[in-house]
Amino acid sequence: MRAAIFSTKRYEREPLAVAAGRHGHELRFLEPRLTADTAVLAAGCDAVCLFVNDQADAAALAVLAAGGTRLLALRSAGYNHVDLAAARAHGLTVARVPAYSPHAVAEHAVALVLALDRKLHRAYARVREGNFSLDGLLGFDLYGKTVGVVGTGEIGTVFARIMGGFGCVVLASDPVESAACVAMGVRYVPLTDLLAASDVVALHCPLTPETRHLFDPAAFARMKPGAMLVNTSRGAVVDTRAAIDALKSGQLGSLGLDVYEEEAALFFDDHSDRGVVDDDVFARLLTFPNVIVTGHQAFFTREALVAIAETTVANLTAFATGCGTLHEVHEVHAASAPPLLPSHGPVHLQEA
Ligand code: NAD
Repeated sequence: MRAAIFSTKRYEREPLAVAAGRHGHELRFLEPRLTADTAVLAAGCDAVCLFVNDQADAAALAVLAAGGTRLLALRSAGYNHVDLAAARAHGLTVARVPAYSPHAVAEHAVALVLALDRKLHRAYARVREGNFSLDGLLGFDLYGKTVGVVGTGEIGTVFARIMGGFGCVVLASDPVESAACVAMGVRYVPLTDLLAASDVVALHCPLTPETRHLFDPAAFARMKPGAMLVNTSRGAVVDTRAAIDALKSGQLGSLGLDVYEEEAALFFDDHSDRGVVDDDVFARLLTFPNVIVTGHQAFFTREALVAIAETTVANLTAFATGCGTLHEVHEVHAASAPPLLPSHGPVHLQEA
């Protein structure tokens, strides 16, 4: 197949080229993000490969379909950036990389927990300036603390296992219980109970209409005062303005973000030459000493990059030949999923 790779970064070219070479596919590496304006760059390509901030909306998909594209092969597990109904209407198949390395993301979430707890970001800067004072660096033992995991799929399950290893009590909230989590002693509770009991809350659910701003002012108010929140899932699961208010009042003790709801304008590129962050909400976040933000790097391990490339290329082959596994994304109607917070009202028919 001929495939256009949108949002290509230097570090992905080699693993993708190696995998594509073995399968006989031809790749067209494109640096721009997919939008309705850039979609024309894929004209003549049977497939396009997209990353998390590519904008596969109805307008972009119409241009892709007109240019001969038949497959969207996502280089991600999440597919919230794709208008699945529009893809279906244009006859486009959507495939993803369901699990490239849940360890990469779960371990990064743990890194954020430990860094925030033991204030490693502050300690690092202090020691380099010859300041060995411990004032302000007081942490807490993770052993015996309660950790709440929102979403116990591939990543949440690995995260739960690691936190169990620290001796934490692990609670979980997910409409679908993981047998592996139940077997390791994770207790499923309603989200309200999880929020009230947890010293650390980690988000590992996808972004859907139900989880958009799941962490709103009401959710922050329900959290244990001074608790930590870590989000490596998708930015819009957290209402950033509500998080800032909760940090200002002290209701939220610390915040670790690998994702941000307006990250598409910032992440994955070097903006340092401008010296100014245009986004005032993001700039406010960076003023808090108890906030750590990383730029969507949780997935970024050697193992994950190779696995993403291999599965993406295998998706191309499966689509082209009908042999092997095509990890297709279907529209999911979640009418049966229970509401997680009373304030979020009934669950509506939706596309996950
Ligand atoms: P997964 O599909 O294996 O698991 C997601 C889990 O969330 C499922 O068990 C599902 O039932 C649950 N869920 C759905 N709605 C929920 C809700 N309202 N409340 C609680 N749980 C809910 O996905 P995964 O591979 O574990 O990935 C989880 C998310 O992590 C992805 O959707 C993606 O957005 C994000 N992610 C981030 C990075 C990164 O680099 N930061 C990398 C990969 C994935």
